[in-house]
Amino acid sequence: MPATAQTTSSPLFPLFADLRGRRVLVVGGGAVAQRKCEALLDAGARVVLGAPELTPALSQWVQQGRIEHLPGKFTPAWLDDAWLAIAATDDLAINHAVVAAADARQIWANAVDDAEASRFHVPARITRGPLQIAISSGGGAPMLARLVREQLETQFDESFGALADLLTRHRQRIRDRWPEMGTRRRGFARLLAGPLQALLRRRQHIAAEHAFDQALRADDPVAIQGSVVLVGAGPGDPGLLTLRGLRVLNEADVILHDRLVSDEVLALARRDAERICVGKNVGEGGTSQSQINALLIEHAKAGKRVVRLKGGDAFVFGRGGEELEALQAAGIAFEVVPGITAALACAAYAGIPLTHRDHAQSLQLVTAHGQTSLDRLDWASLATGNQTLAFYMGVSGLERIRDKLVAHGRAGSTPFAIIENGSRPEQRVIAGQLSALPELARSHDVRAPALLIIGEVAALATRLHWFGSEALTTAGAGCDVTPAIIDIADIAQAA
Ligand code: SAH
Repeated sequence: MPATAQTTSSPLFPLFADLRGRRVLVVGGGAVAQRKCEALLDAGARVVLGAPELTPALSQWVQQGRIEHLPGKFTPAWLDDAWLAIAATDDLAINHAVVAAADARQIWANAVDDAEASRFHVPARITRGPLQIAISSGGGAPMLARLVREQLETQFDESFGALADLLTRHRQRIRDRWPEMGTRRRGFARLLAGPLQALLRRRQHIAAEHAFDQALRADDPVAIQGSVVLVGAGPGDPGLLTLRGLRVLNEADVILHDRLVSDEVLALARRDAERICVGKNVGEGGTSQSQINALLIEHAKAGKRVVRLKGGDAFVFGRGGEELEALQAAGIAFEVVPGITAALACAAYAGIPLTHRDHAQSLQLVTAHGQTSLDRLDWASLATGNQTLAFYMGVSGLERIRDKLVAHGRAGSTPFAIIENGSRPEQRVIAGQLSALPELARSHDVRAPALLIIGEVAALATRLHWFGSEALTTAGAGCDVTPAIIDIADIAQAA
């Protein structure tokens, strides 16, 4: 043989077996055997279980008549009439004896977690309704197969199951409509480019059936409809993006994102998606809200799958509502994927349980952007005790926040914590008492994005610290009291 082959091809031939009504022998009565029985029952197999002792669940299934029990020790006669055998005992010798006896009768056998001894392997799999993806590493690297499975899990949402169901139901109609293979493939591609799957994802099954009917009837190519998905990117740590957010980013043609969205999150998006940064830097003009709305509509009308990616959550001080109103007025379909908002993320990463029952019964999310918005707040209500306040965009208004709260009766000794760059590698937490809030922030040169938490729970930041460096509590050495230069770029963005 030429010595050129670098990797061996898999020695295994993949197949999906129809086990409905067929006898399958499982040997073993423990937890592993129970799992195998469960999977086999799901597949409609007639399960026969051979073992001297059974788990309570297995005994119950026997009593219910769901499985048949062969008591005692393995004997080759157990294999009578079986199509498959699975050896799931914790005794290697018994498992090997089962495989050997099955071999003698040309019955396919698997010894659990024993690739060498097995004649067939059970793959790692992903199931979405009738759609199944099975993964095998040839038995050599089951951990790798599991890892691949986990990665694929994130890519196929539940709508694939509903889609597979729908296509199975209408299989004959699809064949009749496009009898020839080439046209069927093209028609099918058009069908999937349409709104069908998005409707299934939104669980609008009747509308999905209509969309299917329409696509099947249409003589002309189905007009490709664009859509917009509003996605909350979370505070920065890419691990805090939701699975759905990740899937949507993987399917995007165009991504319009804020400056607040971290590079790590953007790196997870589909590589060939067009990226447009619509965050504005102060003095640079940037993109106004109406320009953003117009961009969203323009790309969606061009048939693109548009993702509007925002820091935190799009509905918490994110102007997501206004964007949806504009999309609705333009007749463009949209979806919303929530994100972890800064208050939740910063609190978690700073060790501040927002509603610790000893200290707070409620939580207020407050925007402290600009003088006028500060003046409009109900300070009497904010100053009452037994609650936690989370101020967004507050970096430039700290003095006023302190003065107003104290003037309305909140104690100067109330703890606060400022979390700058929450959940990011450069996170800083500055903790102290309300009376010294602006001075302490200034001496540490706090910059946006930063979130201010006020309330007794803020004091826990020092005790429950776990992420990044410890909370800074006193003014740093050598700091003077000159006003800090505040980076208000993302404040302006949210304005
Ligand atoms: N929609 C966003 C908020 C946008 S307003 C959300 O749900 O989080 C912008 C403000 O959010 C910033 O001024 C800051 O107060 C806060 N913020 C956002 N990300 C932050 C982060 N990683 N760390 C600290 N504060 C953050």
